[in-house]
Parts: sequence; structure tokens; C-alpha cells
Amino acid sequence: LTETIGENYKRQVNVFGSRNVINCAEQKISETFSELDENIIRVSTRLLQLGYKKGDRIGIFMPNNYEWILLAFACMHVGIILTNLNPAYRLTELEHAINLSECKGLVIVPNFKSSDYISMVLELCPELMRTKYGTDLHSKKLPSLRHVWHCGPEGDRFYGVQHINDLLNCDKDFAMVNSAQTNLSCHDVINIQFTSGTTGKSKAAALTHSNILNNGYFVGGRMNLSEVDRICIPVPLFHCFGLVLGVLACVTHGSSFVLPGASFDAMAALQATHDYECTGLHGVPTMFTSYLEKDLKKYNFNKLRTGIMAGSTCPIVTMQQCIDVLNLRDMTICYGMTETSPVSFQSSIDDPVHRRVTTIGKIHPHVECKVINPTTGETCDVNVPGELCTKGYLVMKEYWAQPQATKDAIDEDGFMHTGDMAIIDKEGYASIVGRIKDLIIRGGENISPREIEEFLMTNNKVSNVSVVGVYDSKFGEQVCAWIILKKGQVMTESDVVNFCREKVAHYKIPKYIFFTETFPMTLSGKVQKFVLRDDANQRIH
Ligand code: ATP
Ligand code: MG
Repeated sequence: LTETIGENYKRQVNVFGSRNVINCAEQKISETFSELDENIIRVSTRLLQLGYKKGDRIGIFMPNNYEWILLAFACMHVGIILTNLNPAYRLTELEHAINLSECKGLVIVPNFKSSDYISMVLELCPELMRTKYGTDLHSKKLPSLRHVWHCGPEGDRFYGVQHINDLLNCDKDFAMVNSAQTNLSCHDVINIQFTSGTTGKSKAAALTHSNILNNGYFVGGRMNLSEVDRICIPVPLFHCFGLVLGVLACVTHGSSFVLPGASFDAMAALQATHDYECTGLHGVPTMFTSYLEKDLKKYNFNKLRTGIMAGSTCPIVTMQQCIDVLNLRDMTICYGMTETSPVSFQSSIDDPVHRRVTTIGKIHPHVECKVINPTTGETCDVNVPGELCTKGYLVMKEYWAQPQATKDAIDEDGFMHTGDMAIIDKEGYASIVGRIKDLIIRGGENISPREIEEFLMTNNKVSNVSVVGVYDSKFGEQVCAWIILKKGQVMTESDVVNFCREKVAHYKIPKYIFFTETFPMTLSGKVQKFVLRDDANQRIH
């Protein structure tokens, strides 16, 4: 385990600094690790000069861009806590997140897609309109906030909102940064990460240097990343997938990386993978489904070998197609959760293909796990499903400012209770059955939505499936399938039932079937089953 802050990153800068590159395709920025490092030192020094200290919080409220990476490393460099704010937040959520974490600084893009972030910030703190450029802000609604910076074009002025380049205009005062660094401990919180909000309201996990840096290192290890790799990262940086599995896994192994654009666009990700001759491509399962639907003949993916699928159930069919069609022969699945920095299980490129396609691999180094009966708390036997619990360096320090929630999630022995049902076989390969909350209980029979989803995915007219339990007065719950068909395909409800007949136990055959064009998603690309469940219940009852 790395106990020295930034040790791995520093080593990579020293050894490969001039060869390794971060590329931001949309912004047309390309910088070597050494150039990035110089800018990181400038920004972190400037922040210290402005009075920021270790433990202060800076919120980043923007989609993927170069400045995101710069700010993240500059904060980590001097112990400022980077607070990831989901760009999908609206006024109430933004106000809540900034006040919960008591951000002193906030970095935004002026606008993105249909969101006008400047107006949102001005609405929350109208005082900005009276704040002179370059002076400290005092806001009634956001009392901790002193500075707001924007990353738009340099000439754009919005009252007291400063330009991010002001943070770069600073003499390199290494002495100041170095003395600040001596006070840092790898167990300091460095990142407040909000969970995806798949099951409801997001929670703020407080993660340390040791948590995320080590986790990134082990993730890259299982993929055998090295300086010859260049990884395409189309997933959001404001979740662990982008920051830890993407950026930190690369920098701790000296690999270059590419950000194709501000937000997910399958064509842009594929084009960037082609243009930059990437060796790796990441995505949540729905992103890979989109890649596979595109006309892939026009791209050259000769160098492509690896990638990570993670974030939610990874359908076997999709995994297999990634290997066969995209030639991602060293593809791995990661399993984890924000609260565990995030990855606890991952397949290794040395695992046999059928294991990599059907399981989440084995436990990561330095991590312990157990599978328990969620009702009795007793440890389950091999091959018996139960709640997965994980323990080790990767477990978050706490939920930020929520001691009771922390106690509820991490038990006295230090195990994080994941809320996911898993099975571990005798060789140590694990499979996720589903979330405990999503398990369907029909007339006393436990049904795993995943099993039905996997089965329906084998129908070649089906593009995506999400199975939920809906209320039933007789059985308690019934199975309901939401289906997205592939372009131009037609299927009726009875076609679906006929497809299941003889192959699936009668009680697992969906009683309700709805066809739709899209699923309600979190910005990170996860299906919000609770929305589908509510929608189905409303339609049925
Ligand atoms: P919230 O906790 O706010 O409801 P969330 O749990 O989706 O949202 P994250 O921490 O981003 O927030 O996601 C962790 C969850 O994602 C895990 O608990 C698990 O249910 C799911 N998950 C992640 N990776 C995998 C995977 N490879 N296979 C199956 N499920 C996965
Ligand atoms: Mg969760």
C-alpha cells in the first residue's frame, strides 16, 4: 500500500513525464505529465496564497474537462478536499451539497447543454453581483463560500465570478507548496464523493489519499497498465469511475489518457479511441451497448486491448460482444461502490475469458470480504447468496458530517455493508445477484431480477432490459420487465412470454411487460429502478 502522498504520481512524472500525455479531445488540449505537473504546482500555490489550507473544501460543479483534472490534482497536492458536485444538480441539490460540505471555493463552467450554471449560482448568491472581481464573497445562502471561478472563455466576465486562469497566474513558489505538503497524511480526507443516487438520495462519502490512490493503483494492476497504454475515459470524472478507475489507474502506471468530451457521446468516445490509437476504453454497461450499436467498420481499433465495464450489472452477452466485436480481449469488470473508493472485486486479464465474462472476478489485494445472511448476519457458505461486506484500506473514512449513517453502514469490525447480494464460488470468483432492495419476493419466492434480465438479453431483438418487482395484492410482488428493442425490431408482450416459456420457471416469467425507448438514468449511466418501479405501479394500479 502506498503510504506516501502522490508517491506514484511523482514517480511517473519523473520517469515518464515528457512521454505521457493527457488529451482532452473536445478542448483540443494535449499536455505531458510534466507540463500538467507545473500547472498543478502553480494552482496549488495560488490557492495557498489565497488562504486555503489543508482540509478546506473546493466544489467542482462541471462536466469532464481539462480544468477538472488540473483542479483535482492541485487540491490533492496541498490537502484541499475536492468536492465532486454532479452537474445534473439543480438549485436545491446544489445548495444542500455546498452547505453540507461547507465549500470555500466553487468551480463551474458558465453553461453546459441546457444548463446555465452562472444563473444558478447567481440565484443562490446574488451577492456575487456586488462582489468586486478578485475580492472575497460573502453570501447569505452559502455562508462558507468565498470564491467562485469559471472555466469559460477568458474574456467572459460574470460579476464577481473569477476566471480559472487567475489561479495559473502565479509565480512558482515551490517552498510554499513543499512546506504545506509536509503536514499531509495519507489518511487525510481528500475527496468528498457523492454516491450515484440510484436508490434515492445521494450520500457524501469522505475518501482519503490512501483510499483512492491505492485503489487506482490496484485497478490498473489487474489490467496490466503500463506506459505504453493510452486509455479513453468517457465516464464522468465526478464519480469514482472516472477519477479512480480512469485517471488514477493511469497516472499510477504511467499510462496516458484521453477525455473524449464534456459528457457521454458514444460516437465521440469511439472517434477519440480511433484518433488517439487508444489501448483501452471504459464505460458502464449501457455505454458499451451504445458502442456496439454503432457502425464500427469505419474505425481502426488495432491497438485496443483492454477496458473496464463497471457501475452496474454487466450483461454476459454485452461482455462477450466487447471481446468478440471490439477486440477488448483484456477487458475486465470492476465491482465496487463509492463508499469503498470504489473497487473491491475485479477480474484480472489473466483470468479465463468465461470467468471474466460471467463474474466480477476475485477480491482485490489488501481487501477482506464476507457474504452474510442479511437477516441473521451469519456468514454464508460458498455458493450461497448473501449480502457482500468488504473491509480494508479502501473503506471510506465516513459519510461526511453524518455519524449515524456511517455507523449504520460500517459495522464494529470495520466491514462495509454493501447492500448487494453476491455469491462467491470455491475458487473465489464472485457474482453479483442484485441489490437487496431490488430483490423481488413473489409469494415467498426470492427472484433475482438479474437472472431474468440476463435471459431476456439473449433474445437478439432486445437491446436492453430492466426487471423490477411491482406490488401485487395476492403475491406481494410480481415480476415486471421494461424492454428496449433494437432499432427496427418488433415484439409483443406474448412474444416475450413465449420466449421465456419452457426456459424459465413459471413464477419468474414477467407478468407485466412494458416497451420503452429509454430508461430513467443517473448521469453516470445507471438505470434508476425505483423510477421504473413507481412508473409500473402507477400504470398497473
Ligand atoms: P446510491 O447509493 O446513491 O443509491 P449507487 O449505489 O448506485 O447509488 P455508487 O456508489 O455509484 O452509487 O454505485 C455502487 C453500486 O453499483 C453497488 O452497490 C452495486 O449495486 C452497483 N455496481 C457497481 N459495480 C457493479 C458490477 N460490476 N456489477 C453489479 N453491480 C455493480
Ligand atoms: Mg450505494
